[in-house]
Amino acid sequence: MSAQVIDGRACARALKESLEVDVARLRHEGLGIGLATVVIGDEYSSGAYERRLRRLADELGVTYSPQTLPGDTDQEALLTRIGELNADPAVSGILVLRPLPSHIDEAAVFRAIDPMKDIEAVHPENAGLLALGVPRFVPSTAASCFHLLDTWLDSVGEDRADFYHRANIVVVGRSNNVGKPAISLGYERQATVQSVDEWADRTTGIGRYTRWADVLIVAAGKAGLIRAEHVGENAVVIDVGINAATGPDGRVHMVGDVDHDAVAPRVRALTPVPGGVGPVTDVWLLRNTVTAARLLAGRPIDLARPSLPTPARVLLEAS
Ligand code: NAD
Repeated sequence: MSAQVIDGRACARALKESLEVDVARLRHEGLGIGLATVVIGDEYSSGAYERRLRRLADELGVTYSPQTLPGDTDQEALLTRIGELNADPAVSGILVLRPLPSHIDEAAVFRAIDPMKDIEAVHPENAGLLALGVPRFVPSTAASCFHLLDTWLDSVGEDRADFYHRANIVVVGRSNNVGKPAISLGYERQATVQSVDEWADRTTGIGRYTRWADVLIVAAGKAGLIRAEHVGENAVVIDVGINAATGPDGRVHMVGDVDHDAVAPRVRALTPVPGGVGPVTDVWLLRNTVTAARLLAGRPIDLARPSLPTPARVLLEAS
């Protein structure tokens, strides 16, 4: 049997539709919503990311101001720019793109972001709230993983709570960016959660953990890391990885961390790359920006468990 492919683009479209309604209402009430990204240096990948965010922000009616600073920008200048964004009433959400150059103290930069505008929850206050299970903002990539899972469960008629309470969730990769927030969200759903890192891969191997996963979230940044022998038959696999690979025709294309062709025949469902986690992540970042605008305007939001006004529908197809 072939796995169901969880369609991230369809899921992102539904999420965007519900956000459009929200943004229109807030704008009608006179509330401005603005996203600012800060990039140091002119990395090709952040350029592509900025273009995607600009398109999405334009479509939603959110103001977008990308700030690209030269690669040799010093710590003080960066902190000054963040201070300006904190003070700018047109900016609701701030995202500082990683990786930062080695001469910049990442922790000091994250501490400088106004916690109410910190849409990726990198400030210690927001990271702490997330770890305590009462997030102000849920970081977009981890949120995307669980949004895809939640909507997939709805689409196959499984009760979310019942599924998560029984589930063994294995998260491969333990970055502050993706892995750790995903672990926190697994705890929040009262699942059993295991965290596997490159040290397990170097010593015992990761298969002894991943094979028993009901949900396998892979965020290592290693193309082909997860192969058929790493997964169990009932697994739902969420592939976060983004890697460049050269095909037989010599062209470079994007692949995930999961060997899709080898894994798909064995598992219950999986997300593709491209078209899985990525599109939902982008919309979720805008969703967090809307949440920040609400918070800054003193409007109530459901901080602990952000829910969707209209349930998204995940389209399934045989792979
Ligand atoms: P990172 O480099 O900060 O962290 C990677 C983690 O994986 C680390 O904990 C590392 O120890 C672990 N790891 C590395 N090799 C491993 C191995 N062989 N076995 C087990 N664990 C291993 O990266 P990140 O920011 O967490 O991103 C991870 C991947 O997800 C990257 O490919 C990134 O491009 C991608 N990503 C995708 C999205 C999206 O929206 N789809 C968003 C963010 C990141």
